[in-house]
Amino acid sequence: MGSNKPWVSLFFCLVFSLSVQAQQLSPADQATRKLALEIFKQLIEINTTDSVGSVTVAAEAMAKRFRDAGFPDADIQVLGPNDRKKNVVVRLHGSGKHKPVLLIGHLDVVEARREDWTTDPFQFVEKDGYYYGRGTSDMKDGDAIMSATLIRMKKEGYIPDRDIILAMTADEEGGTSNGVDWLIKNHRELTDAEFVLNHDGGGVLADHGKPVMMEVNAAEKLYGDFVLTATNPGGHSSLPRPENAIYELADALTRIQQYQFPFELNPITRAYYEQQVKLATPERAADLKAMLKTPPDMDAVARLSKDPLDNSTMHTTCVATRLSGGHANNALPQMAQANINCRILPGHPLEEIRLALERVVGDPKIKVQFRENTNVLLDHGSDRHSYVPPPPRKDVFDPLEKVVAQMWPGIPVIPNMSTGASDGVYTNAAGMPTYCVSGEQYDRDDIRAHGKDERIGVESFARGVDFYYLFLKGVTSE
Ligand SMILES: [Zn+2]
Repeated sequence: MGSNKPWVSLFFCLVFSLSVQAQQLSPADQATRKLALEIFKQLIEINTTDSVGSVTVAAEAMAKRFRDAGFPDADIQVLGPNDRKKNVVVRLHGSGKHKPVLLIGHLDVVEARREDWTTDPFQFVEKDGYYYGRGTSDMKDGDAIMSATLIRMKKEGYIPDRDIILAMTADEEGGTSNGVDWLIKNHRELTDAEFVLNHDGGGVLADHGKPVMMEVNAAEKLYGDFVLTATNPGGHSSLPRPENAIYELADALTRIQQYQFPFELNPITRAYYEQQVKLATPERAADLKAMLKTPPDMDAVARLSKDPLDNSTMHTTCVATRLSGGHANNALPQMAQANINCRILPGHPLEEIRLALERVVGDPKIKVQFRENTNVLLDHGSDRHSYVPPPPRKDVFDPLEKVVAQMWPGIPVIPNMSTGASDGVYTNAAGMPTYCVSGEQYDRDDIRAHGKDERIGVESFARGVDFYYLFLKGVTSE
């Protein structure tokens, strides 16, 4: 439209963009937004912590909502290993053209103490454009969004081209009854799918409110703790000897500090960096291109590795996190011990990393052990590893690109590897490639999951509801 009066074109833009938005949001969207919000509030106000809460209460509440929405009893299961840790699984039947898709979300939340918070963490509070409460961003928001989306699809009589299974589960954050693990081991038939969508990660990363990229976690590193122990007969500190447990441990730690695990990319981190080239400064883009070559330019790898996130994306990392030793100010130490925390690239088992640490330490007097979750020290790690991801699936990324272009024009969709861990560790291990996808926007400076005053933006949640319907429909229709 040709106009030399700026306010006229501004006015036109406003009216035009409002009407485009209005077109995209049919009345059903408003109803779904409202339903999602009701479910969100309900879930936040059911305490699902491991200490005093009940995941079963939340699972039953969701089962009732599915029944009320017309899902037959046969398609809703509430089941688990004990009374407090039941999971809910619901299925929307499709035409059977493709194998099912499994949606997963954990219902449990991290502990929260009233005295640490500004508001009551188990009350759903709307304030200053945000919803507050434990689980508002991790991840009762996602549970509410997925549930409301499925209910909307059921009410619309939508027949997807594959079954859509939604499993909402216990003990992702802690506890000993992980629901995804339990369901796969005990009810594989209920959860069997071609691939998995997890709402517990990914999303629209923003910089001071401005969307920058749509992130999709499509691979995970493995967490592992190892313990170095130096021992010595000890003695009187007035008569020091060359052998000293503290010095020996200190030398071992220095060797670990100086060691870099090998550079390695997998199909997801490669795709991540190929996209990063487009966003990078010219200098960084040149290094990224050199790093992506076969064979890689190792000078470029070294320069990039100075950044902690790049370093962690391209290498297994092991770092000293705790230290103890000695028993008296006037005695030679009989023991010195350090915890080494590792974040291990897909495909590498725990025992391989323990052996690597042993080699790096290079001192037979220092014991290198694996620390189990239960804090028991073992002389060997297991062969547990996180799974090398397949290349990004087109049947997930193509529909995603389409919805992102519509809702956040111009931002790239970037698959990445999470340096943390989610329930995807179980689904990936079961041979179901897992993608963390969410349409919620979060600011890179305002991540409060697990912390105090956890929150999500009101607008971010509402758009997350709109997004999920469009995305899930794209994934389940031709
Ligand atoms: Zn989570």
